[in-house]
Amino acid sequence: MKQQYKSYQQTCDFLENCVNKYPDIIKIESIGKTWENRDIMLATISLDVQHADLKPAMLYTGTVHAREWIGNELGVAFIDYILENHLSNPSIQQTLTNNTLYIVPCLNPDGFEYSRTHFSFWRKNRRDNGNGTFGVDLNRNFSVGYQKSQDTSSNVHSGPHPFSEPETTAMKNFVDNHENITIALDYHSQGNVFFPAHKFNHESEYNGTALNTICANMNHEIHKVTGRKYGIHRGKPPTKLISGSGREYYYSKGIIAIVVEVGTRNIPDFMQNMQESIDENIPALLRTLSEAQNHSKKAPHTIDKFCIDRCTQNEISLSWDYPDTKEIYFEIYRNIENKRSCTEKNLVCQTYNRSFTDVQLKSNTPYYYYIRAVNNATKIKSPFAPKTKAKTALDFNEFSKTLFPKPNDVGYVAQKMKETNLKHFGINSLFIGVNKSKGKSYGVMKYDLSGIPQNAIIKDISISLYPLNRVNAKIEKFGEWKISFVDQDSISELTDFDQIDNAIHIETLGASIPSEKLTQGIWSHWILNESEKKIFQEQLQHQSVVFKIHGPTTLPDGRDSQMMMFDLGYGKFGGGLHYRPNIDITYTMPPKTKEIVATTTASISNENVNYDELICGFDQDNNKIYGLMEFDLSSLPEHDKTVITDCYIQIKNKSASKTKQDIRYNVEFADIEEISYKSIQHRDRIEFIGYEVSHTDISSRKTHKFIFDKYSTIALEDLHNKNINPRFIIKPTSSNIKNHLVKWHNDTAVKLIVNYIDKRNHPVNTITRLEVSEQKGKVKLTWDNPKDKDFKGVYVVRNRFHIPTNPLDGDKIYAGTDNYTLDDFGNPFICKYYSVFTYDNVPNYSKPISIKFEGLGI
Ligand SMILES: [Zn+2]
Repeated sequence: MKQQYKSYQQTCDFLENCVNKYPDIIKIESIGKTWENRDIMLATISLDVQHADLKPAMLYTGTVHAREWIGNELGVAFIDYILENHLSNPSIQQTLTNNTLYIVPCLNPDGFEYSRTHFSFWRKNRRDNGNGTFGVDLNRNFSVGYQKSQDTSSNVHSGPHPFSEPETTAMKNFVDNHENITIALDYHSQGNVFFPAHKFNHESEYNGTALNTICANMNHEIHKVTGRKYGIHRGKPPTKLISGSGREYYYSKGIIAIVVEVGTRNIPDFMQNMQESIDENIPALLRTLSEAQNHSKKAPHTIDKFCIDRCTQNEISLSWDYPDTKEIYFEIYRNIENKRSCTEKNLVCQTYNRSFTDVQLKSNTPYYYYIRAVNNATKIKSPFAPKTKAKTALDFNEFSKTLFPKPNDVGYVAQKMKETNLKHFGINSLFIGVNKSKGKSYGVMKYDLSGIPQNAIIKDISISLYPLNRVNAKIEKFGEWKISFVDQDSISELTDFDQIDNAIHIETLGASIPSEKLTQGIWSHWILNESEKKIFQEQLQHQSVVFKIHGPTTLPDGRDSQMMMFDLGYGKFGGGLHYRPNIDITYTMPPKTKEIVATTTASISNENVNYDELICGFDQDNNKIYGLMEFDLSSLPEHDKTVITDCYIQIKNKSASKTKQDIRYNVEFADIEEISYKSIQHRDRIEFIGYEVSHTDISSRKTHKFIFDKYSTIALEDLHNKNINPRFIIKPTSSNIKNHLVKWHNDTAVKLIVNYIDKRNHPVNTITRLEVSEQKGKVKLTWDNPKDKDFKGVYVVRNRFHIPTNPLDGDKIYAGTDNYTLDDFGNPFICKYYSVFTYDNVPNYSKPISIKFEGLGI
C-alpha cells in the first residue's frame, strides 16, 4: 500500500523531469540542506517563469510534520496537474499569467524518510539533540510566539531557539526575500479543517473575513468534487493553541496564512482516501492561487466602514466609504450563514455607488454581507472588508425567542464514566459519539419554555450547536449526529447515563448531520419540519423540552474513536455566551376577535341625510345614494400593544329593487370630516375594502364580508392610534339607472370584525448614561435601564470595525436585565465599539446607544 506514496527521491526526480519537459513554466532550486544533508526543494511555477518573482505569489508548504504525507503527495499531484493542463485550460493560463506558485512539497525530508522507512508516526525533523533523543517540531521552531521547551523527547519539542533548524531557516530566508508572496497555505493532516491565522485574540481580525472567505471558497470547490465541507476554525479557546508555527510567522509578514488539515488519518489508504483528498484539493488550490494578485500591492484598497444603515422586515440598506475614483466598482455578496463562500452564486450587487439596498428578504432571518472593490481595467479585486450582518425585523404578527440551557441542564453522559457524569454539566464541551475511554457518549440539553405562551403557534425553529476542535476529537467518514425529543416522563435525572441511554424518544429529527458535513468552527443547525414543530408545540405544556444528541455508538475494527466535541459556552475552556447551544424560535399567537357594531349608520342622498338606516342606490335623477358606517375603536386594546392580523366589515342585505342590469356595490374607506352629501362628493378615498358585490350576489346570499387589504389595515391602525373613528361608505359603481335601492340591515348587523394579537409595536426606550471603563484588565460597561414595565433587558454587542447598528452586527457580550457588564473575552488593548440595545418581550430592539473604547494604553 505505502509504495503508492512517492519517496523523497522520487519527488526530486519528478521535479527534475518537470523542468526538462516544461522549462518555461517551472524552475526548481534547493533552499537549504537538512541535518542529513538532503536538499529542501522548492519549485517556482508561472507562465514565463524567469519573471515569476515579479508577480504576486502563493506559497505552498507540505509535510512539515514527517508523518503527514498528504503535503508531499498533494504537492506533487498539484504540480503535475498544472503542468499537464496549463495548455488546455484557459483558467489555469489566466491564473499563471498573473500569479506565481512557490511550492515546497516536503519541508521535512529527513523526518519524512524516517517516517516512510522506519517509524511511520514520526513527526519532528532528525536533529540529534545530543542526549539520545532526536528531532525538533519544525512547526514550533518559528519565532512568533516561540516557547522554549525542556523535554527534547517531546513530540512538540521546539528546539534550542527560534530558527535553530535548517528547515525553518530556509523558509524564513525564502519568505523574507520574496515580498511578492501574499498567500501561504501550509498542508497538514488530519481533520478536514482550515485553521486561518489569528493573533490569539478573542476579537475579530481586520482580515478575518478575507481569511475565512478564502477557506469558504476552497470549500466551495471541495464540495463540488466530494460533497465534503471542511471546518473553518480560528482557534477559539484555548487561546494559545500553538506557538512558533510557520503560519504565524508568515502572517506576521502580512501574508494571508492558512493551515489546511486534510483527511482523517496521517497515512490513509491511498486509493480509497488519499486520492479523494488530492482530487478535492486541486481545484481549491487553483482558486486560491488565482487570488494571490487580489492581496498584492496591485490590488485596490480594502473598503472602509461597511455598515448596515437600515434593516426592516424585508429590506437591508448598506453603505460604505471609498475614495472617489472612476475605475473602481464594488461587488456585494450575501449569505444566510457565517463562513460561507462568495462566488457568482451569491453575488447580489455590482455598483459604482457607495450604497445598496437588498430587497425581498425573509423576516427574522440573519443576513451576512461581504464587499470587495474591483478595478474595472485590470479586474484585480481588493481583499474582502470585514463582513457586516443583521437580522431582519420580525414580521408584524411574529414573536421570537432565543433560548439557552442553564449550566446544570446541558452536558454529556458517557457509558464508562458513570460516577463522574454529573461533572460534565455546565463545563467546557459536549463529547458526543463513541470512543475507547468513554464508551458511548450522549449530549443532553434541557430548555426552559416557561417564557413562551402555551398556546403559541410555532412558525420556525432551529437548534444550533457549535462544533469545536476535532484534531483531538478525531472524526472519520462514518456515522451521523442526530437530535431526539426525549419523553420527559421517561427520565428523572439528566446526568444518569442509563436513563439517557434508555430514554424514550418521542421523535428523532429527520435532519441529521453526517460526519463529512460536521465541520468545526461552523455552526451546525437542525431545522425542524412541520411535524417536529408540532411536537415542540406539545412540549410547551411541560414548560420545558429535553433533547438528546447522539452520534455513532459502535466502532469498526481498528478504529478507537468517533467522537465530536461541541462548545457549551460555559466553563474555563468554553467560548462564552456567543457559542452556547441554543434554540431559535419564531412563533405567533392565535388571534383574539373583537366585533365592533357601527355607532352611526346613515343614508345620504342629494336631498337629505337619514340616520339609523343603511341604503344605497340611485334616486329618480340618477344621483347616487350613499350608505355610511362609522365605528368606534375604543373597545380595542391600546394601539401600541395591538397588532391587527386581519379584519373585515360584515353587513346583511334586507331588500333590493329588481333589475336586470349588472349593478355592483363596493365599500370604500373614506376620509370625510362631516356627514353630508357635499363632503362625500369631495371625499378622499383611502382604499376600496375587499371586492365589489354584484346584484346577483345580493339575491343569492344575505351576509357579505368586505375584507381589508394590508394598506387599509395599516390605515385602520393609524386611526386607532389617533383616536379617530373610521368611516366607510357603500355605493353602487354603475350609472345611468334611476330609482334603484338596496336596503341593508342597520341595527347590530353592521359590524367591523377585528382579529388581533397583543403585541407591542415599538421598542421601549433606550438605555441612558452609557459609560466605559476598565476593571482589572477587562472592559466594563455601565448604563441606566429605562423605567418601563415592558422592558425585558439589554443586548450588548461589540464590533471592532464600526458602530454596530443591529444587535447581530458583532460579538454578543451580554443579554439580561443588569445595568453593567464586563467584556470577559475581549482584548482590552484593542480599540473597538460597543452598542447597547433595549428589548421588550417581542422582542422589539431599540436604536443602539453606542460608545467607542479607545483601548488601554493607546
Ligand atoms: Zn501537522
